[in-house]
Amino acid sequence: MTVQLYLRRSSGRSEMVSPAIVLAFVPLLVTLIIRYRYHFLLLYRAVLVRMVLDCTTGISREERAFQYLLTHSLPGDPDSILDTFDHWSSRVEYMSNIGPKKGKVLDRLITDNTPLTVLELGTHCGYSAVRIARGLPLGARLYSVEMDECNAAIAEKVIRLAGFDDDTVELIVSPSEEVIPQLRERFGIERLDFVFMDHWKRCYLRDLQLLEGSGLLGKGSIILADNIIFPGAPHFLRYVKSSGLYQHRIHQATLEYFRGIRDGMAELTFIGTK
Ligand code: MG
Repeated sequence: MTVQLYLRRSSGRSEMVSPAIVLAFVPLLVTLIIRYRYHFLLLYRAVLVRMVLDCTTGISREERAFQYLLTHSLPGDPDSILDTFDHWSSRVEYMSNIGPKKGKVLDRLITDNTPLTVLELGTHCGYSAVRIARGLPLGARLYSVEMDECNAAIAEKVIRLAGFDDDTVELIVSPSEEVIPQLRERFGIERLDFVFMDHWKRCYLRDLQLLEGSGLLGKGSIILADNIIFPGAPHFLRYVKSSGLYQHRIHQATLEYFRGIRDGMAELTFIGTK
């Protein structure tokens, strides 16, 4: 059988392409597949599997995760909730929680700095809210912001299942750009000791600048931003490095529940005015 490949020219005429030229691209294609095998796997687990299960189960991935937590974890035990969530996200369905490895950096910063007022941007299903809340000192409060109402409803159930009441974790269902300017007047916040950013990466820079404008960052306030390498937040990082407002440190890591994709977190310490 003769393989005939045609290239359509702008003139409309078609010309046969030599199989040798096509074969020359095979090594390139194989190299790309090998190099990005983890990205393809991520696409499969995070997108394709989710789409199929959404259709076959008729409920959202977030609701499936909550049902798994209900049947596999101990209510009132944050460690059990987090371990079960990690198991579900790594073995059952992929979900981009901060995960156990990067989560240890978050744990250490909370334990070392004992923040009294914490802001989280991007609650999603409440994994990191539980992670933060279990390390907070007595009397401290976490304000967690989620713009998606369905995710927020799941997060509320997860946070309460872990045993944290409204005095410890307050969930705010609203876009971050609307919440940040209201934090002082509507929520009576005077200063943010710790901010965890894990929402849309393209909003990191805008929201950091909104926080600066709010006057709620004080000397020593810490901001931890997740996924600054993958999916990445290059404008945010460039600004942090050039603004002169922060001491910064990058924590190298891999993407949550994926050892083959490089990621990292940026830890910023606010040092004051320009
Ligand atoms: Mg993240």
